[in-house]
Amino acid sequence: MKVFTLGTAGGPLLRADPGNAHRRGIATAVVIKDRTYLIDCGHGVGLGLAEAGLSPRSLTAILITHQHSDHVIDLNSIMVLGGLAFRGMPDARVPVIGPGNRVELPLVQGEGAEPAVIFPQSPTPGTSEMVNLLLRAHATDLNDRRRDSGASDISQIFSGVDISIPKETEFHPNTQNHPEMVPFEVYSDDLVRVTATLVQHRPIAPAFAYRIDSDYGSVVISGDTAPSENLVRLAAGCDLLLHEAIDLEAVARSYPDASPTELEASMGHHRRAHTTAEDAGLMARQAGAQNLALHHLVPAGSPPEVWQQAKNKFQGPLHIPKDGDWFSIADGTVTHYERK
Ligand SMILES: [Zn+2]
Ligand SMILES: [Zn+2]
Repeated sequence: MKVFTLGTAGGPLLRADPGNAHRRGIATAVVIKDRTYLIDCGHGVGLGLAEAGLSPRSLTAILITHQHSDHVIDLNSIMVLGGLAFRGMPDARVPVIGPGNRVELPLVQGEGAEPAVIFPQSPTPGTSEMVNLLLRAHATDLNDRRRDSGASDISQIFSGVDISIPKETEFHPNTQNHPEMVPFEVYSDDLVRVTATLVQHRPIAPAFAYRIDSDYGSVVISGDTAPSENLVRLAAGCDLLLHEAIDLEAVARSYPDASPTELEASMGHHRRAHTTAEDAGLMARQAGAQNLALHHLVPAGSPPEVWQQAKNKFQGPLHIPKDGDWFSIADGTVTHYERK
């Protein structure tokens, strides 16, 4: 079982990080035999796959943690450009599994009038509708290539699957977005079992963390979350926990012109929705994770010392992988290989 950190930056910004420390948008590939399970599709995921030597043809399932743009912005690259690799494979099926339609808009934060709703006919599409809309946007290209050069019908190959959250959790996107719950299965085949839990990333909801178990071991991807008891339960005893991390001091410095009130509003969001490196260490310790790796780094250019603070709370091996690094997991041993 291999885990490739294809992209390790968090956040919806298009920019190069200072100090030539550029990281691509968040994306992780779990590879077993000839199958690739892709978790999130941040900016540059297609190049990340190519550099890791992974063909789009190996895609077996795509899992979306939540619908913030930094996690899904290159889903169309994977489907529309990656779909060209499926020539001669008309029967291939790649589910894109993620949050369902939120139905209710988030509550308006702060003072002032409620803003007009964008696309009011469907303001909170879930994964299946998003996949359909993305593919429809490329219909001109898809029909052109199908008629001109026999490309496969990727509208049949990729299909969105909305995760149904077990009713007994009494999940509600605004009033109960992170209820205590037991992890539940969202995908399985003869090589893996994927379970999910709700994490705390308000106001967006639902937001999921995923655990992939195989005969070789287990890996957990936190998604974006504040410190979460559900995540601790999902990650119990896992071989490798990939947890998001934020450098709150650096983020605060990135709002130099904000008034104290504005700054507190922004920082309040980051504290409620993300996890510091030290707290990620605490989550790993509470879960009994064997290894902790930090990714979805915000800001991506913060120095290694910031991320090393996870060691204040976690005594096991700590990894700060770069884009293109990979881990092998076998028989309880996790080995980190740096990208060549
Ligand atoms: Zn994110
Ligand atoms: Zn997010």
